[in-house]
Amino acid sequence: MEKCEWKFVDDVECHYESECGGEWFFFEGTTKENEMELCPFCGEPLHESNSTL
Ligand SMILES: [Zn+2]
Repeated sequence: MEKCEWKFVDDVECHYESECGGEWFFFEGTTKENEMELCPFCGEPLHESNSTL
């Protein structure tokens, strides 16, 4: 993998699922707003799949 795709699951809880099988909750905001650039599970660059919508 060159990147790890993160999918927004629930915008109420800021819940994400990663391509590598991890789950993450932010208190608020997106991966970008939280300055999360690398996936903490696999170490690959994090790509938020629906951030371009
Ligand atoms: Zn990952």
